[in-house]
Amino acid sequence: MAQPGDFASTVKQQADIVRIVGEYVKLRKSGAQNYSGLCPFHQEKTASFSVHASNQFFHCFGCNAGGDIFTFVQKIENITFPEAVRMVAEKLGIPMPKVSYSSPEEARQARQRGTLLDIHERACAFFQEQLKRPEAAHAREYLKTRGLGPEMIAEFRIGFSPESGFLLRDAVRGQFDEETMRESGLFSWKDKDQSPVTSNQTPDGQAQQKTALYSKFRNRVMFPICTEQGKVIAFTGRTLANDEKSGPKYLNSPETPIYSKSRVLFNLDKAKEAIRKLDYAILVEGQMDCISVYSAGLHNVIASSGTAFAEPQARLLSRFSKKIVVNFDPDTAGAAAAERSLALLVSEDFEIKVLTLEAGFDPDLFIREKGANAYTEALAHSQKYFDYLIERARALHPVRTPEGKVKALNYLLPHIQRIPSRIVRDEMANEIAHRIGIESSVLRQELRHAATARSASRVNTPPKAQLTDAERVLIRALASPDLAHSPQTAREGQDPDFEPARQAHFFLTQERLHEGLSSQALIDTLLTAHEQGLDPMGLPLEENDRRLVASVLMDDHEDLTPELLENAVRSLGKRRILRQLDDLQHQLKDAERRNDAVLSARLLQERVKLRRAMGAGAEGSAVQ
Ligand SMILES: [Zn+2]
Repeated sequence: MAQPGDFASTVKQQADIVRIVGEYVKLRKSGAQNYSGLCPFHQEKTASFSVHASNQFFHCFGCNAGGDIFTFVQKIENITFPEAVRMVAEKLGIPMPKVSYSSPEEARQARQRGTLLDIHERACAFFQEQLKRPEAAHAREYLKTRGLGPEMIAEFRIGFSPESGFLLRDAVRGQFDEETMRESGLFSWKDKDQSPVTSNQTPDGQAQQKTALYSKFRNRVMFPICTEQGKVIAFTGRTLANDEKSGPKYLNSPETPIYSKSRVLFNLDKAKEAIRKLDYAILVEGQMDCISVYSAGLHNVIASSGTAFAEPQARLLSRFSKKIVVNFDPDTAGAAAAERSLALLVSEDFEIKVLTLEAGFDPDLFIREKGANAYTEALAHSQKYFDYLIERARALHPVRTPEGKVKALNYLLPHIQRIPSRIVRDEMANEIAHRIGIESSVLRQELRHAATARSASRVNTPPKAQLTDAERVLIRALASPDLAHSPQTAREGQDPDFEPARQAHFFLTQERLHEGLSSQALIDTLLTAHEQGLDPMGLPLEENDRRLVASVLMDDHEDLTPELLENAVRSLGKRRILRQLDDLQHQLKDAERRNDAVLSARLLQERVKLRRAMGAGAEGSAVQ
């Protein structure tokens, strides 16, 4: 990883971890040097994810993810260390030296991803060019009937894949090798003497040329799918043919090393700023719906592309907002997928509203026929998800009879049980009892029980209890080598020469005050790191120790003053004396039992000394 003096450490020194993490996670200042937010790496309701500004590290007390800025970027972008260094350097505008990878395999993967991005960019440009050609008249006509003008076509980089499967291949063959072409997911092929591997349709009958590769997408309107940064990684192709043989209406790229459908949200690259600013997202089903809503001026719209929302997508979205208006009817065709999406969003603790359009209208058709204003108006009247559910339950099971009430309850219960918060579930049970008109206290009780009986979510607290205050102060001092030099922490009245790490190091190495404590190994490691000028959070600590150090550093509500440090040293000194006295007491009893008068006398003398030292400590002369 980053070694002192190398490029990565240069980048690290200039990077502000709070700012960079802040691009992904909403952070709140929660201490002098400490910021916190909801962890992007696990699902949580209360923030256990913290970032430390002067020590430049992050730690999650929920899932124990932690490390420096590069670990963070690697994890969240799912990239290698060299790629993370490059990415942070790019953000800071630091020119890159030649990249070095830790293994040939890592280098190969990074190169492969880069090449796959290149071929997608090339293909996207190719499809865009093709849309302008005479042969694409029917594609342009289709887009026109869908109400898409030249601006939206350009903004979404919509293109056309020609009928001939060989044009794309011939266009990219000079630049990319066959392996890349096969891995890109853009092509199908026939192995010799075999039927096609990935498709059972033949291309347009042209004689086979050098290879059997041909474009997977033929005679389709092409919608590029992009990463959050706007890089094209896949396509959806909408067929323009009417016959069954031409394959599915919508054809998606297969999963590739750069594309995993559960990790991508269509249009997030263009929508993310608006989602963050407005603090909610509009979720629609298909790409056409998404483009229509976007062109109506509502830029915070994303599409799940017809499949059920997956957990990584929910996490991805939650980095921008946890509020969502879902605009697909859970009643219609994709009902099962919609239902699963909503269930997932509930369990990921999103605040959900449902926008129900008149029967027969999807967002695209609604906007084309009624206009953008009508859609905005409808959006303003979207309903809270649970109000919507209760209404549905009442419509499906008339609640005038006791049987109807029980049926309505049974319809609602599984939905309620997905809510992560017990308190919210309990409130919901009351609300339902009220709205469905359940007077029977027995039934109410049962409903509340069913709603709340769900494994309570685990509460994660930092492991404070494992350390005494004194140990915490000393660990904090040892782990903050440049605290005194940091302008952010130089407080009024503070001794300018006070270097907590140096002083803590002095006391601890002189007196070995931490001997015998559970934190002994950790403190020894930190002492060595201090001597070698190493970053404490960069040390290969055990998970529990790393967690301890993180929790100590994050908890910086009290200024680290010389007094605080002295008190800590004194307290540890006292505790050591107490341990020694205890020891002595045992030895003394032993000596008396064996009638060893000489030893007893010596031990008694020692006890006097220790008691005196104890008293001196209490009066304030530090251990120095
Ligand atoms: Zn976490």
